[in-house]
Amino acid sequence: MIMARPKKQGEERPRRKNAERKEAGAVLAPVNGNTAAGQAASKPADISGWKPRTALGAKVKERQILTIDEIIDNSLKIMEPEIVDALLATENDLLMIGQSKGKFGGGARRIFRQTQKKTMEGNKPKFSAIAIVGDKNGHVGIGMGCAKETVPAREKAVKKAKLNIFRIRRGCGSWQCGCGKPHSIPFSVIGRCGSVEIKFMPAPKGKGLCSAPDIAKILAFAGIKDIWAKTRGQTRNRVNFVYACEDALRKLVKTKVQPDQYKVVALAEGSIQQEAAKQKPVEAEVIEESTSTHNPKINEEA
Ligand SMILES: [Zn+2]
Repeated sequence: MIMARPKKQGEERPRRKNAERKEAGAVLAPVNGNTAAGQAASKPADISGWKPRTALGAKVKERQILTIDEIIDNSLKIMEPEIVDALLATENDLLMIGQSKGKFGGGARRIFRQTQKKTMEGNKPKFSAIAIVGDKNGHVGIGMGCAKETVPAREKAVKKAKLNIFRIRRGCGSWQCGCGKPHSIPFSVIGRCGSVEIKFMPAPKGKGLCSAPDIAKILAFAGIKDIWAKTRGQTRNRVNFVYACEDALRKLVKTKVQPDQYKVVALAEGSIQQEAAKQKPVEAEVIEESTSTHNPKINEEA
Protein backbone atom coordinates (compact mmCIF):
# COMPACT_ATOMS: atom_id res chain seq x y z
CA MET A 1 0.00 0.00 0.00
CA ILE A 2 2.78 2.36 0.93
CA MET A 3 4.53 1.70 -2.39
CA ALA A 4 1.36 2.20 -4.43
CA ARG A 5 0.45 5.64 -3.12
CA PRO A 6 3.60 7.54 -4.25
CA LYS A 7 3.24 6.09 -7.77
CA LYS A 8 -0.31 7.43 -8.07
CA GLN A 9 0.80 10.83 -6.87
CA GLY A 10 3.73 10.70 -9.26
CA GLU A 11 1.36 9.99 -12.13
CA GLU A 12 -1.02 12.76 -11.25
CA ARG A 13 1.53 15.52 -10.90
CA PRO A 14 2.93 15.55 -14.49
CA ARG A 15 -0.62 15.71 -15.88
CA ARG A 16 -1.32 18.86 -13.91
CA LYS A 17 1.96 20.37 -15.03
CA ASN A 18 1.17 19.66 -18.69
CA ALA A 19 -2.24 21.26 -18.35
CA GLU A 20 -0.66 24.29 -16.71
CA ARG A 21 1.97 24.52 -19.42
CA LYS A 22 -0.61 24.49 -22.20
CA GLU A 23 -2.60 27.26 -20.54
CA ALA A 24 0.48 29.27 -19.69
CA GLY A 25 1.60 29.02 -23.32
CA ALA A 26 -1.81 30.15 -24.53
CA VAL A 27 -1.74 33.12 -22.18
CA LEU A 28 1.90 34.02 -22.74
CA ALA A 29 1.80 34.01 -26.56
CA PRO A 30 0.07 37.42 -26.92
CA VAL A 31 2.08 38.84 -24.02
CA ASN A 32 5.29 38.18 -25.96
CA GLY A 33 3.79 40.00 -28.91
CA ASN A 34 3.00 42.84 -26.52
CA THR A 35 6.60 43.28 -25.40
CA ALA A 36 7.79 43.21 -29.01
CA ALA A 37 5.34 46.01 -29.80
CA GLY A 38 6.49 47.91 -26.71
CA GLN A 39 10.15 47.80 -27.72
CA ALA A 40 9.41 48.75 -31.33
CA ALA A 41 9.79 52.52 -31.12
CA SER A 42 12.20 54.39 -28.85
CA LYS A 43 13.54 56.96 -31.36
CA PRO A 44 11.61 59.04 -33.93
CA ALA A 45 10.68 56.54 -36.61
CA ASP A 46 12.10 56.58 -40.13
CA ILE A 47 9.58 58.37 -42.37
CA SER A 48 11.56 58.37 -45.61
CA GLY A 49 9.12 55.98 -47.28
CA TRP A 50 6.03 57.87 -46.16
CA LYS A 51 3.84 59.63 -48.72
CA PRO A 52 1.68 62.20 -46.87
CA ARG A 53 -1.96 62.25 -47.88
CA THR A 54 -3.04 65.32 -45.88
CA ALA A 55 -1.88 68.95 -45.94
CA LEU A 56 -0.70 68.65 -42.34
CA GLY A 57 1.28 65.53 -43.19
CA ALA A 58 2.97 67.32 -46.09
CA LYS A 59 3.99 70.19 -43.79
CA VAL A 60 5.46 67.76 -41.28
CA LYS A 61 7.41 65.93 -43.98
CA GLU A 62 8.77 69.23 -45.35
CA ARG A 63 9.77 70.16 -41.78
CA GLN A 64 7.59 73.27 -41.66
CA ILE A 65 6.21 71.86 -38.41
CA LEU A 66 8.87 70.64 -36.01
CA THR A 67 7.00 69.91 -32.77
CA ILE A 68 3.72 68.24 -31.90
CA ASP A 69 2.87 71.23 -29.68
CA GLU A 70 2.37 73.39 -32.80
CA ILE A 71 -0.32 70.98 -33.94
CA ILE A 72 -1.98 70.79 -30.51
CA ASP A 73 -1.88 74.57 -29.97
CA ASN A 74 -3.68 75.17 -33.27
CA SER A 75 -6.07 72.26 -32.52
CA LEU A 76 -5.37 70.62 -35.87
CA LYS A 77 -6.65 67.12 -36.45
CA ILE A 78 -3.99 64.46 -36.93
CA MET A 79 -5.18 62.09 -39.66
CA GLU A 80 -1.97 60.12 -40.24
CA PRO A 81 -0.10 58.20 -37.51
CA GLU A 82 3.23 58.94 -39.27
CA ILE A 83 2.92 62.58 -38.16
CA VAL A 84 3.32 61.47 -34.54
CA ASP A 85 6.14 59.10 -35.51
CA ALA A 86 7.99 61.94 -37.20
CA LEU A 87 7.61 64.46 -34.35
CA LEU A 88 7.78 62.41 -31.15
CA ALA A 89 9.96 59.59 -29.85
CA THR A 90 7.02 57.48 -28.71
CA GLU A 91 6.73 54.06 -27.19
CA ASN A 92 3.60 51.97 -27.34
CA ASP A 93 2.10 49.23 -25.22
CA LEU A 94 -1.17 47.34 -24.89
CA LEU A 95 -3.45 47.23 -21.87
CA MET A 96 -5.00 44.10 -20.40
CA ILE A 97 -8.67 44.64 -21.16
CA GLY A 98 -9.82 41.07 -21.84
CA GLN A 99 -9.65 37.71 -20.17
CA SER A 100 -8.64 34.28 -21.35
CA LYS A 101 -11.24 31.60 -21.94
CA GLY A 102 -11.18 27.99 -20.77
CA LYS A 103 -12.00 25.75 -17.85
CA PHE A 104 -8.72 25.70 -15.94
CA GLY A 105 -6.85 28.97 -16.29
CA GLY A 106 -9.81 30.98 -17.56
CA GLY A 107 -10.25 34.51 -16.36
CA ALA A 108 -6.60 35.54 -16.50
CA ARG A 109 -6.03 39.03 -17.87
CA ARG A 110 -5.39 39.18 -21.59
CA ILE A 111 -4.59 41.92 -24.08
CA PHE A 112 -7.49 41.12 -26.37
CA ARG A 113 -11.12 41.27 -25.41
CA GLN A 114 -12.94 38.55 -27.32
CA THR A 115 -16.63 39.01 -28.05
CA GLN A 116 -19.02 37.02 -30.25
CA LYS A 117 -22.01 37.70 -32.39
CA LYS A 118 -24.51 34.87 -32.92
CA THR A 119 -25.41 34.45 -36.58
CA MET A 120 -27.17 31.87 -38.77
CA GLU A 121 -23.77 30.58 -39.89
CA GLY A 122 -22.43 30.30 -36.36
CA ASN A 123 -20.51 32.46 -33.91
CA LYS A 124 -18.57 35.38 -35.36
CA PRO A 125 -15.77 36.24 -32.91
CA LYS A 126 -14.27 39.71 -32.73
CA PHE A 127 -11.15 40.95 -30.95
CA SER A 128 -10.59 44.38 -29.47
CA ALA A 129 -7.49 45.87 -27.86
CA ILE A 130 -6.54 49.16 -26.22
CA ALA A 131 -3.11 50.62 -26.97
CA ILE A 132 -1.31 53.50 -25.30
CA VAL A 133 1.31 55.69 -26.93
CA GLY A 134 3.47 58.18 -25.09
CA ASP A 135 6.83 59.94 -25.00
CA LYS A 136 7.08 59.73 -21.17
CA ASN A 137 7.40 63.50 -21.22
CA GLY A 138 3.96 65.07 -21.22
CA HIS A 139 2.24 63.47 -24.23
CA VAL A 140 -0.01 60.40 -24.26
CA GLY A 141 -2.61 58.85 -26.51
CA ILE A 142 -5.12 56.06 -25.93
CA GLY A 143 -6.82 54.17 -28.76
CA MET A 144 -9.04 51.15 -29.16
CA GLY A 145 -8.96 48.85 -32.16
CA CYS A 146 -11.41 46.12 -33.11
CA ALA A 147 -11.08 43.43 -35.81
CA LYS A 148 -11.89 39.82 -36.67
CA GLU A 149 -8.28 38.80 -35.98
CA THR A 150 -5.92 39.70 -33.14
CA VAL A 151 -3.07 41.23 -35.14
CA PRO A 152 -5.09 43.83 -37.11
CA ALA A 153 -6.91 44.74 -33.89
CA ARG A 154 -3.58 45.54 -32.27
CA GLU A 155 -2.37 47.55 -35.27
CA LYS A 156 -5.59 49.55 -35.38
CA ALA A 157 -5.34 50.27 -31.65
CA VAL A 158 -1.78 51.60 -31.95
CA LYS A 159 -2.75 53.71 -34.97
CA LYS A 160 -5.76 55.22 -33.21
CA ALA A 161 -3.73 55.88 -30.07
CA LYS A 162 -1.29 57.94 -32.17
CA LEU A 163 -4.15 59.94 -33.70
CA ASN A 164 -5.61 60.61 -30.24
CA ILE A 165 -2.39 61.96 -28.74
CA PHE A 166 -2.85 64.83 -26.27
CA ARG A 167 -0.82 66.94 -23.89
CA ILE A 168 -0.97 66.82 -20.11
CA ARG A 169 0.08 69.13 -17.32
CA ARG A 170 2.46 68.19 -14.56
CA GLY A 171 3.42 69.90 -11.35
CA CYS A 172 3.72 69.44 -7.62
CA GLY A 173 0.42 70.17 -5.92
CA SER A 174 1.20 68.08 -2.86
CA TRP A 175 1.10 70.04 0.39
CA GLN A 176 3.43 67.43 1.92
CA CYS A 177 6.08 68.00 -0.72
CA GLY A 178 6.14 71.52 -2.18
CA CYS A 179 9.44 70.87 -3.93
CA GLY A 180 8.50 72.96 -6.97
CA LYS A 181 9.39 70.26 -9.49
CA PRO A 182 6.86 68.75 -11.92
CA HIS A 183 7.00 65.12 -10.77
CA SER A 184 3.29 64.77 -9.95
CA ILE A 185 0.14 66.64 -11.00
CA PRO A 186 -0.58 70.27 -10.05
CA PHE A 187 -4.09 69.68 -8.65
CA SER A 188 -6.54 66.80 -8.17
CA VAL A 189 -8.79 65.84 -11.09
CA ILE A 190 -11.79 63.53 -11.48
CA GLY A 191 -12.55 61.58 -14.66
CA ARG A 192 -15.68 59.64 -15.45
CA CYS A 193 -16.83 57.04 -17.97
CA GLY A 194 -19.95 54.97 -17.37
CA SER A 195 -20.16 54.20 -13.68
CA VAL A 196 -16.39 54.43 -13.25
CA GLU A 197 -15.06 57.49 -11.51
CA ILE A 198 -11.36 58.00 -10.91
CA LYS A 199 -9.76 60.74 -8.86
CA PHE A 200 -6.08 61.56 -9.20
CA MET A 201 -4.42 63.43 -6.35
CA PRO A 202 -0.90 64.93 -6.20
CA ALA A 203 1.50 62.81 -4.16
CA PRO A 204 4.85 63.75 -2.59
CA LYS A 205 8.13 62.87 -4.29
CA GLY A 206 9.12 59.20 -4.15
CA LYS A 207 5.61 57.93 -3.54
CA GLY A 208 5.29 56.20 -6.93
CA LEU A 209 2.13 55.50 -8.89
CA CYS A 210 -0.44 54.29 -6.36
CA SER A 211 -3.08 52.92 -8.72
CA ALA A 212 -4.15 49.84 -10.69
CA PRO A 213 -1.32 48.42 -12.86
CA ASP A 214 -2.96 49.43 -16.16
CA ILE A 215 -3.62 52.98 -14.98
CA ALA A 216 -0.07 53.22 -13.64
CA LYS A 217 1.15 52.21 -17.12
CA ILE A 218 -0.78 55.09 -18.72
CA LEU A 219 0.54 57.56 -16.13
CA ALA A 220 4.10 56.35 -16.64
CA PHE A 221 3.74 56.86 -20.41
CA ALA A 222 2.52 60.40 -19.70
CA GLY A 223 5.60 61.09 -17.58
CA ILE A 224 3.95 61.33 -14.16
CA LYS A 225 6.04 59.78 -11.39
CA ASP A 226 4.03 60.19 -8.18
CA ILE A 227 0.26 60.05 -7.82
CA TRP A 228 -2.55 58.86 -5.59
CA ALA A 229 -5.71 57.46 -7.15
CA LYS A 230 -9.15 56.73 -5.79
CA THR A 231 -11.87 54.94 -7.76
CA ARG A 232 -15.61 54.32 -7.64
CA GLY A 233 -17.91 52.12 -9.70
CA GLN A 234 -17.30 49.06 -11.87
CA THR A 235 -13.56 49.31 -12.36
CA ARG A 236 -13.55 45.65 -13.41
CA ASN A 237 -14.84 47.04 -16.71
CA ARG A 238 -11.37 47.89 -17.92
CA VAL A 239 -12.51 49.81 -21.00
CA ASN A 240 -14.51 52.33 -18.99
CA PHE A 241 -11.72 52.41 -16.41
CA VAL A 242 -9.14 53.36 -19.03
CA TYR A 243 -11.40 55.99 -20.63
CA ALA A 244 -12.14 57.50 -17.20
CA CYS A 245 -8.37 57.83 -16.73
CA GLU A 246 -8.10 59.56 -20.11
CA ASP A 247 -10.94 61.92 -19.15
CA ALA A 248 -9.14 62.82 -15.91
CA LEU A 249 -5.83 63.46 -17.70
CA ARG A 250 -7.52 65.68 -20.30
CA LYS A 251 -9.06 67.73 -17.46
CA LEU A 252 -5.54 68.67 -16.34
CA VAL A 253 -5.31 70.91 -19.41
CA LYS A 254 -8.97 71.99 -19.50
CA THR A 255 -8.91 73.32 -15.93
CA LYS A 256 -8.13 77.02 -15.74
CA VAL A 257 -5.33 78.00 -13.37
CA GLN A 258 -4.84 81.55 -12.11
CA PRO A 259 -1.46 82.91 -13.32
CA ASP A 260 -0.27 83.61 -9.77
CA GLN A 261 -0.72 79.91 -8.94
CA TYR A 262 1.59 78.70 -11.76
CA LYS A 263 4.72 78.95 -9.62
CA VAL A 264 3.05 77.62 -6.46
CA VAL A 265 2.13 74.28 -8.08
CA ALA A 266 5.18 74.22 -10.41
CA LEU A 267 2.89 73.92 -13.41
CA ALA A 268 4.47 72.53 -16.57
CA GLU A 269 2.52 71.76 -19.72
CA GLY A 270 3.77 69.22 -22.25
CA SER A 271 7.45 68.28 -22.42
CA ILE A 272 9.79 69.63 -19.75
CA GLN A 273 13.24 69.44 -21.38
CA GLN A 274 12.86 72.90 -22.96
CA GLU A 275 11.73 74.42 -19.68
CA ALA A 276 14.45 72.79 -17.58
CA ALA A 277 16.55 75.97 -17.66
CA LYS A 278 13.57 78.10 -16.70
CA GLN A 279 12.65 75.86 -13.77
CA LYS A 280 15.60 76.83 -11.55
CA PRO A 281 14.65 80.49 -10.90
CA VAL A 282 11.04 79.38 -10.38
CA GLU A 283 12.13 77.09 -7.57
CA ALA A 284 14.01 79.88 -5.82
CA GLU A 285 10.99 82.17 -6.05
CA VAL A 286 8.69 79.49 -4.70
CA ILE A 287 10.91 78.98 -1.68
CA GLU A 288 11.04 82.73 -1.06
CA GLU A 289 7.28 82.99 -1.33
CA SER A 290 6.67 80.05 0.97
CA THR A 291 9.01 81.44 3.61
CA SER A 292 7.57 84.94 3.31
CA THR A 293 4.00 83.64 3.55
CA HIS A 294 4.70 81.28 6.42
CA ASN A 295 6.68 83.66 8.60
CA PRO A 296 3.90 86.22 9.15
CA LYS A 297 1.57 83.40 10.21
CA ILE A 298 4.11 82.19 12.75
CA ASN A 299 4.52 85.76 13.98
CA GLU A 300 0.75 86.12 14.32
CA GLU A 301 0.50 82.86 16.24
CA ALA A 302 3.40 83.86 18.48
ZN1 LIG B 1 7.03 67.77 -5.05
